[in-house]
Amino acid sequence: MAEIEKRAGGCQCGAVRYTVEVERGGKVISCNCSMCGRAGTLLTFVPASKFHLDCGADATTDYQFNKHVIHHLFCRTCGIKSFARGTGRDGQPTVAINVRCLDGFEPGQFQVQEFDGRSR
Ligand SMILES: [Zn+2]
Repeated sequence: MAEIEKRAGGCQCGAVRYTVEVERGGKVISCNCSMCGRAGTLLTFVPASKFHLDCGADATTDYQFNKHVIHHLFCRTCGIKSFARGTGRDGQPTVAINVRCLDGFEPGQFQVQEFDGRSR
């Protein structure tokens, strides 16, 4: 059974803060697309119901590219992209968490899987 843990995260300057339920030691995606490849984000996807934005709703800037299906929300002060909003394959609201922005993040806490976003 996957162990779910509640973790806090956010941007660098503290304007954006959230709480999210993630699988301990779960899989995260290292994507090579034009966005993630540059930013180095490590992503995990959770249903929007498992995500709570504690503060910063008005501190983010929304950037969209490609098919314009994902809202890339970055902090307008420090520029860190700690999460994004989109719609999952099941049509439900989904949040992409950049696990690098979780408090106490270490790369070894997750199973990193490569994802070829560039070719999609
Ligand atoms: Zn910030």
